[in-house]
Amino acid sequence: MSATPATPLAHDADALLQRLGVPRAAYTGGDLPVRSPITGETLGAVPQSTPAQVAAAIGRAQAAFLEWRNLPAPRRGELVRLLAQELRAARDELGGLVTLEAGKIPSEGQGEVQEMIDICDFAVGLSRQLYGLTIATERPGHRMMETWHPLGVCGVITAFNFPVAVWSWNAALALVCGNAVVWKPSEKTPLTALATLAIARRALERFGAAPAGLLELIVGQRATGQALVDDARVALLSATGSTAMGRAVGPRLAARFARGILELGGNNAAIVAPTADLDLALRGIAFAAMGTAGQRCTTLRRLFVHDSVYQTLVPRLIGVYGRVQVGDPRSPGTLVGPLIDRMAFDGMQQALAQSRALGATVHGGNRVEGIAGDAAYYVRPALVELARHEGPALHETFAPILYVLRYRSLDEAIALNNAVGAGLSSSIFTLDMREAEQFLSAAGSDCGIANVNIGPSGAEIGGAFGGEKETGGGREAGADSWRAYMRRATNTINYSTALPLAQGVTFDIDG
Ligand code: NAD
Repeated sequence: MSATPATPLAHDADALLQRLGVPRAAYTGGDLPVRSPITGETLGAVPQSTPAQVAAAIGRAQAAFLEWRNLPAPRRGELVRLLAQELRAARDELGGLVTLEAGKIPSEGQGEVQEMIDICDFAVGLSRQLYGLTIATERPGHRMMETWHPLGVCGVITAFNFPVAVWSWNAALALVCGNAVVWKPSEKTPLTALATLAIARRALERFGAAPAGLLELIVGQRATGQALVDDARVALLSATGSTAMGRAVGPRLAARFARGILELGGNNAAIVAPTADLDLALRGIAFAAMGTAGQRCTTLRRLFVHDSVYQTLVPRLIGVYGRVQVGDPRSPGTLVGPLIDRMAFDGMQQALAQSRALGATVHGGNRVEGIAGDAAYYVRPALVELARHEGPALHETFAPILYVLRYRSLDEAIALNNAVGAGLSSSIFTLDMREAEQFLSAAGSDCGIANVNIGPSGAEIGGAFGGEKETGGGREAGADSWRAYMRRATNTINYSTALPLAQGVTFDIDG
């Protein structure tokens, strides 16, 4: 790839990257081609990090950590405040680049950057609230407390579908907690990562006192991620991606007793109960199931509709599926953009074929031609009516397929909600307080996210994000997720002249 953009989309990407301050050498002439799902065109070619460069980046981050940890946390928060300012200034350009590289419609591309700004704002406040407990002690003249200390280098591996927001969820918290960050973005979306680092560099320059190596970027595929996973200098590894990736990463982290935050696949459900506000449910289901072309970890994939409202709701939903505008995400009115690549398209068609073989009724799901050339994959979202909860519905297919099933009792619907490997997100549409509370109770949804009268997707950063079971158990972003980025020390201080031992133990020595 030459320095002159060869295609119209590459031209747009180049213009955005230049405005964002990314040097051309960072995205031309490299060995990792980057293609846009909008047309399949090549946007650039990024040099991949060699093993030696990866090791050096981790080394720089480790050295930076040793300095950074000594800055008071509110001072560290100042860097994150500047990062939020820079992100605000670059919102349109970075959001536009997310659209070109990941295929999101503009409001979702911009929304992703807004999420970065939100987590930075959250982290700035947090930088003055890294609280530890003071604990009652049984010994007179003693005080017991916990203190929270910076942890070390945080490795961050991210997926293509949230190419920038997930880095910021981790980086904003890691920075205020006193850590350095090494980021391995998806090999499908390195351009937005380069742009994010260019934005962060401006914040670092304005801050002035940050050590070099505080925010590092390494580019590459699975092997590059593995190098980060296996490096003993990486104290915490936050990995976002498929459950298959988590199965590979989890044991390697455990083998060296490293901390992990695993944010893996979802197979999210919603229940539509007899009292549901069906207009609201329809909108909630449509966004959650078709938004981002079904490529969110929290995408609604399974819908359980009470027998009494099935005939009212499902035909309306099928109508919406037939009419929703599929197209170039930059075209006005488009709600469903492209799939990321051919592999995603093939996976979707395979799941639909398996469903048909099981006797399911499939609405939509076909390739939509005439939007771009053969190298882009646009599909009409699929709604699949099932008679039984079986087959591909039990696993995540990262494409817009909504499996729909009737239910008769809430117990049955909750059991179905929980009857899959993943445990990320879930919701119920009901106006019956008893049903809503049962769904949220200990005997209800087993997911990390459980909602009432909104769909399972589109979380805010204020709450802890993540899920159970095959979703990996990690939590990041809001609430007390910051604790994962720090180490806790319990301190007992004796300000008396005696030395009473805990549990009444006596140990009297001579002299
Ligand atoms: P993926 O698993 O193919 O890749 C994700 C990242 O992991 C990439 O950077 C990849 O290079 C890296 N990777 C893959 N195998 C690795 C290994 N063995 N060691 C180290 N690194 C490795 O996922 P994807 O296709 O980019 O993204 C889609 C998947 O991510 C879906 O399953 C989706 O549900 C999930 N996801 C989860 C969350 C969440 O927060 N739970 C958020 C976004 C996406």
